[in-house]
Amino acid sequence: MTKKEITIVGAGLVGSLWAVYMAKKGHKVNMYERRPDTRKEGVYGGRSINLALSDRGWKALRGVGLEDEIRKVAIPMYRRVMHSVDGTLTYQPYGKEGQAIYSVSRGGLNQTMMSLAEQHEGVKIHFDQKCTGVDLETATAWFEDDHGKIVEQEADLLFGADGFYSAVRQIMQKTDRFTYSQTYIEHGYKELSIPPAEDGGFRIEKNALHIWPRGGFMLIALPNQDGSFTCTLFMPFEGENSFENLKGDDDVLQFFRSTFPDALAMMPDLIVEWKENPTSSLGIIRCFPWTRNGKVALIGDSSHAIVPFYGQGMNAGFEDCTVLNELFEIYGDDVDTIFRQYELIRKPDADAIAELAMRNFVEMRDLTADPDFLLRKKIERRFADKYPEKWLPLYSMVTFSHIRYHDALAEGNRQDAIMSKIMSIPGIEQKWDSVEVENRLLELVS
Ligand code: FAD
Repeated sequence: MTKKEITIVGAGLVGSLWAVYMAKKGHKVNMYERRPDTRKEGVYGGRSINLALSDRGWKALRGVGLEDEIRKVAIPMYRRVMHSVDGTLTYQPYGKEGQAIYSVSRGGLNQTMMSLAEQHEGVKIHFDQKCTGVDLETATAWFEDDHGKIVEQEADLLFGADGFYSAVRQIMQKTDRFTYSQTYIEHGYKELSIPPAEDGGFRIEKNALHIWPRGGFMLIALPNQDGSFTCTLFMPFEGENSFENLKGDDDVLQFFRSTFPDALAMMPDLIVEWKENPTSSLGIIRCFPWTRNGKVALIGDSSHAIVPFYGQGMNAGFEDCTVLNELFEIYGDDVDTIFRQYELIRKPDADAIAELAMRNFVEMRDLTADPDFLLRKKIERRFADKYPEKWLPLYSMVTFSHIRYHDALAEGNRQDAIMSKIMSIPGIEQKWDSVEVENRLLELVS
């Protein structure tokens, strides 16, 4: 492919990874980021925020030789540990023996990719530069610094990797037949933490994702390298159990005492963090098309932001990189075809993972505490272990495979219908592992 000048808007997770992909192909890459260089400012020095990385993300990192380095600092989480109000723990493995999702530091991952892009691949990162305009015909873009100084950047191609509030997308929105929706869910989130134990160890099981499911709201915790856990409380903004109703310190303490007593005992900084950390909103972005004129393309959250309950937002953005890279390898200089194929392939998958992520929210906050749901999962797992060629659980399709999201969704719907029939067998609680149930499942799947 002819060497091109590439502009990437946004040096977040997806932009940084895509910059490495493009630079490795020999293109000249300029990446512009609104924020300062976090490696210098030490913004991530205080609060650790982590993310669950799974197979789709790993594949994209492997594609640029980053997998081994990130694996060294990633913590495998093999199962969900559910905490009930009385402190009883129940467990649910994520996949087969040895399969895990991985807790990684958001800041650490981003910084590693920026450093690789800059130091080894010759990408030029311009910090404190906010994109204010893009010419969709020519891929020329304009950036403004804190002093109001504007620079113009010409390029052959421009990628908008500037996240939920994408400036590039906002410009595309003004073009004919651009379809767009931005939806907020009624829940928001607040990040809190469980510090390491006195001896520096983990206060609760290290290699697990912890969930305190409470119906309309939930707390989750993912482990960090230093023995701490980053917790996230997901709760409605308004209503009975809501952020709005937790105004004073006493309200917060009383709420935690009655709903998350075991977690509260491990959160000495709860009140300080409650006040310092923002309550943030959660939204979904859908739009189409994702590209214009064979010149400009959206990638990552700018084109398909989703709610975080399947742990797939970043993974899906990283998969965009894998797919785009494959298309560049197939079609070379024919960028029109590359972009057209990219949006046609990825749009149904982005819609599917958006839908699955909303469904998983219900599963995490309500169903993980529901005995029928746990029984259903046990039956599925037993059948999948015995007949792996006939049944791959939906969670595994999404998390531990590269099956397209929209195929996974369709298969998940088929499995749902089958499992509803199985769960309605009289006395299923007693005979869930019987030959009768197994034979009925065999009949229904074929
Ligand atoms: P971003 O990470 O948002 O990066 C966009 C970048 O563009 C930023 O650096 C921003 O400063 C910059 N920018 C914005 N506007 C401009 C502009 N005008 N000019 C220049 N630069 C600009 N995903 C998972 O896979 N697993 C998880 O466990 C997970 N957990 C999550 C938990 C929460 C609470 C949330 C909110 C999200 C979670 N996600 C998770 C989703 C994940 O964070 C996103 O999908 C991912 O960050 C998207 O990456 P991105 O690079 O597309 O966008």
